[in-house]
Amino acid sequence: MKNRGKLPVWLKRRMPASATYGDTRNTLKDLELETICTNANCPNRGQCWDRGTATVLILGNVCTRNCKFCSVGHGKPEPPAADEPDRIAEMSKRMGVKYLVITSVDRDDLPDGGAGHFAAVVNRCRELNDGMQFELLTGDFRDSMDESIEILGTALPFVFSHNVETVPSLYTKARPGGNYERSLDLLRKFKNRFSDTPTKSSMMFGLGETDEEVIEVLKDLRSVGVDRVAMGQYLKPSKESLDVVEYVEPAKFDWWGEKAKELGFSWVMSSPFTRSSYHAELERTDQ
Ligand code: SF4
Ligand code: SF4
Repeated sequence: MKNRGKLPVWLKRRMPASATYGDTRNTLKDLELETICTNANCPNRGQCWDRGTATVLILGNVCTRNCKFCSVGHGKPEPPAADEPDRIAEMSKRMGVKYLVITSVDRDDLPDGGAGHFAAVVNRCRELNDGMQFELLTGDFRDSMDESIEILGTALPFVFSHNVETVPSLYTKARPGGNYERSLDLLRKFKNRFSDTPTKSSMMFGLGETDEEVIEVLKDLRSVGVDRVAMGQYLKPSKESLDVVEYVEPAKFDWWGEKAKELGFSWVMSSPFTRSSYHAELERTDQ
């Protein structure tokens, strides 16, 4: 273990106070939309919102899981808001969004895990803002995987993303409601069912994983057909969250990026500030 004390210099960032940042914040507030940017205390909020980019968090901000690296609230969620697709479509129109990452809390309480609501958001955005592209970052649809995949398929095309988050040996500590094999299964099934759809997954480093374990996860992801991978530094988002075990140096992230490319991922992002949705708009296919 190394670099586990004070925040290293490469992880210090200032929040901009630009007009675009303010516009993004005001639009989200006006339309009463949740984002993972704020709910997860993302360190990139200044930069992303300053570019007019935000990742919407649908289906509320109360999760039925309780991952120990995550600051999203957990408990019994409210029923899905029927007007949320309208509000997100309106946001996309007002902000001129071309590429939207949509994620959600896990909704184990809903029969379809929330898949229908994902599809409704995408379809409503398309109606109001033609030409948008989407990336859906979903939970694992524990109790409805096959049915949820079919429902999501009604909203194609999009990039399908599901995060393994960390190495399997750390699941009990970090992701007690998750299951590594189930996550791989979801990615495999989605690719098998919709082979033209790019699939993506992300990992955080700094929770105590070893290099050997990370390599194994990357190989596992490739074995289930995952095309794109993002790797970033875990940062403790709240007092109650897991401590950081290690701050991985930027050069090591570059090394992981090269490793991932060698393993055949077609799109790789690896840096301390990388998050699943960081610069995701660069994945737009017409640029
Ligand atoms: Fe939001 Fe993603 Fe940017 Fe973080 S990286 S601020 S979650 S869009
Ligand atoms: Fe956070 Fe885990 Fe819920 Fe996702 S599933 S919102 S990471 S607690």
